[in-house]
Amino acid sequence: MLRRTKIVATLGPASADKDTMCSMINAGMDVARLNFSHGGADDHRRQVRTLRAAAKSCGREIGIMGDLQGPKIRIRRFRNHSVELTDGDAFFLDNALGPTDGDQNGVSVALDSLHEDITAGDVLLLNDGLITLEVDRIDGTRIHTKIVHGGILSDNKGINLKGGGLSAAAVTDVDKKNIELAAELGLDFLAVSFVRNGDDVLEARELFHEAGGHGVIVAKVERVEAVENINAVIEAADVVMVARGDLGVEMGYAELTGIQKKIIRNTRKQHKIVITATQMMESMIQNPVPTRAEVSDVSNAVMDGTDAVMLSGETAVGAYPVEAIRTMGEICIGAEKFPLAVGRTSHRLDDHFELVDEAIAMAVMYTANHMSVKAIIALTETGSTTRWMSRIRSDIPIYAFTPHVETSRRVAMYRGVYPVSFVIDPGKPRRLYQDIFDTLLANNLVEIDELAIVTKGDLDGVSGSTNEMKIVKIISPS
Ligand code: PGA
Ligand code: MN
Repeated sequence: MLRRTKIVATLGPASADKDTMCSMINAGMDVARLNFSHGGADDHRRQVRTLRAAAKSCGREIGIMGDLQGPKIRIRRFRNHSVELTDGDAFFLDNALGPTDGDQNGVSVALDSLHEDITAGDVLLLNDGLITLEVDRIDGTRIHTKIVHGGILSDNKGINLKGGGLSAAAVTDVDKKNIELAAELGLDFLAVSFVRNGDDVLEARELFHEAGGHGVIVAKVERVEAVENINAVIEAADVVMVARGDLGVEMGYAELTGIQKKIIRNTRKQHKIVITATQMMESMIQNPVPTRAEVSDVSNAVMDGTDAVMLSGETAVGAYPVEAIRTMGEICIGAEKFPLAVGRTSHRLDDHFELVDEAIAMAVMYTANHMSVKAIIALTETGSTTRWMSRIRSDIPIYAFTPHVETSRRVAMYRGVYPVSFVIDPGKPRRLYQDIFDTLLANNLVEIDELAIVTKGDLDGVSGSTNEMKIVKIISPS
């Protein structure tokens, strides 16, 4: 059985060499994520080169996503690199303090306007919410707080404001450099962190295209403002990530599951792609097997209809990067067996379709879900027909037949869509269907006499031109 839900895995020190990357691809990684928060440009160049080589030797097209750091607000540094904060003590944040002069009493922050953005009574969460500070009063640039939950605090840890509202722009100067790097490296996906609204997403998209990037834009939903503007964020993006790490800190984690379900539902409704991210298999950073809660978490995301599930520390720094991917894949397949995940829905039956390729895609899914069809084949330039198709729940595989590697790597993220490299022979148009059948049979994707549906356009090489569907019976190679 083919797994429909896709797996994004983050590269890091635990997954740096070609052999490990090969094993990760063979274990089921569909898209690799580079984290621009860690490492320099040359590290990322090396990661991309190694991954492309690994994918080539495995004979698979793997998408690559570059993830921008964004305006993650951080404290600066301590004289002794860390301090231990005690519950009930006072602690201050002050951007006027020297960048390495932090101590038991307070530390500098890397956001000049922080003291203007917050007021007494606000709650600041540091180090992914492990440390909680309550703001007492603000005195010039100095923010005096009381330590609610203390602990060890070390250099450069992140700060979130509970409830959101910090005004930092989504695309920083560091991000602009990394956008150029992402374009240079030909990355397939560019993830934009801490977007507040649709305009932040559009700004990143424009910069990426100006730099020559061809990939698509992933909007990471990890701020309260993005949740409030969720439909505009989805509209402006190609792919949406439920970035539960920062989102859970800013929103408070109690409502996170409901928000996840809502974002997945809305994204699919707007015909876009959605990734569910962070801490999905967290305990596998240390352990060779997941907890039952993690198994449930991955299964629930699959049943919610997510396109992809993501691994972060598990594959970047964990002891079991390959096992984490393999185990996650098994859980996805397990969850996909149940009707909640498979359910052939009546979604869009009353819709009016705007586009010809969209209408064809809907006709295909309606037909396929009501007949014994074993495969759907879309001859596609950009993959857009397969994206329309994959928004309709089905258990029938959708094969994106395309001559373009960029398209193969992009559809690697789409639930239930599988790229197949295929070039139409212009000299022999009458052999087209036999060529399709031969390709399917050679890859063991269908058997003789099974039914399949093929879509194509009159004009090869023109995107969005799909205007034809054909129901065919697979016949033997000529
Ligand atoms: P990060 O984003 O891993 O880059 O912080 C994901 C998240 O916040 O969940
Ligand atoms: Mn984040």
